[in-house]
Amino acid sequence: MKVIRLRAGKDRSLLRRHPWVFQGSIEKGKADAGETVRVESAEGQFLCWASYSPESMIRVRAWSFDEHERIDAAFFQRRIAAAIALRARMPIASDAVRLIHGEADGLPGLIVDRYGDTLSAQFLSTGTERFKNVIADLLLEATCLTRLYERSDANVRTLEGLQPVTGWLRGEGDTEVVIAENDWKLSLDVAEGHKTGYYLDQRDNRKKFADVVRHYGCQSVLNCYSYTGGFSVAALAGGATEVVSVDSSGPSLARATAHVALNGFDPARHTALDADVNHTLRDLLKQGRSFDAIVLDPPKFAPTAAHAERAARAYKDINRLGLMLLKPGGLLFTFSCSGGVGPELFHKIVAGAGMDAGVDGLILDRVGATPDHPQTLYFPEGEYLKGLLILKR
Ligand code: SAH
Repeated sequence: MKVIRLRAGKDRSLLRRHPWVFQGSIEKGKADAGETVRVESAEGQFLCWASYSPESMIRVRAWSFDEHERIDAAFFQRRIAAAIALRARMPIASDAVRLIHGEADGLPGLIVDRYGDTLSAQFLSTGTERFKNVIADLLLEATCLTRLYERSDANVRTLEGLQPVTGWLRGEGDTEVVIAENDWKLSLDVAEGHKTGYYLDQRDNRKKFADVVRHYGCQSVLNCYSYTGGFSVAALAGGATEVVSVDSSGPSLARATAHVALNGFDPARHTALDADVNHTLRDLLKQGRSFDAIVLDPPKFAPTAAHAERAARAYKDINRLGLMLLKPGGLLFTFSCSGGVGPELFHKIVAGAGMDAGVDGLILDRVGATPDHPQTLYFPEGEYLKGLLILKR
């Protein structure tokens, strides 16, 4: 077993159970891509078993802090079983669930979503890449399923020196799947959809949106960055009579339109707008339009804290326009999925947007990701999705 020796004082974060070691913290030791290594402090004390990634800034990702544990098939079986057992205890109103959420489930670099009878997985680190076949078989065994589609085409793989890989890893067939989320039917394509196919982290917020649209009697709804229209279906379910979905992806909008019919809603209540949100918000203002509720769920503007400043301006701008387009008494459901923008900063940005728009608002709710996307106490990078539900006074 190869040993990675850390520099003096660089053991602190592993001792606090943070699972990453950066390149600069390593005194000596090398291994192959994905090889399991023993990580020791400068004094030679055992810190963790980990996978080694020779090309990544995150050189080491911890598998286990238990010196007696072996990193073998049985280890992966235990971690997978624990993650799935946890999901079974969670209140999840869907047959589409995130089964493995990377670091939070003790499996850094592994993302696995279940969509009905199909698994869709991302192997994002050299460690998960090395154990891919073992993990794939164990996942199918643990879920009693036969199909696993690989979506290892996320950009972060390049930082690991890994090529993108997509396709059926186990099983075969149609990549189109229909799932039941809350009270709705939604379709997705595990080969063509974003990430693993769909954004499961917003499941509870879509339900919440349907509820507030009903409670507050919202009629007109603008869903910005709609993707396949999850929040639009929620708005229609909540009784909205006029819903506009805006996205710059044509195929996603086509699916949003299909979802309106799939759920039995009158197509006349929904409009799909293939456009840039920034332009659309300005155009709608010029046209004098206004809405009872607006959703802003943009893509990640700030992947890391280094991008936070530019991202803050972009968030502020869309939130300012969104608040201006709301009718008095209307609701803004606004999100950021940028890891580099924390909840406090996001609150400040939206407050700044309110100031610039000259409107007063009340925070009715603060929300995060669904529980199947958990965060450990010791890994702050795990917090990414945050949202505010704001009432315009
Ligand atoms: N709210 C969605 C997920 C949104 S993901 C859900 O509940 O499923 C972000 C979406 O923003 C993607 O569909 C992407 O196509 C879209 N997008 C990114 N930049 C955009 C832009 N400038 N204008 C419009 N849409 C954009």
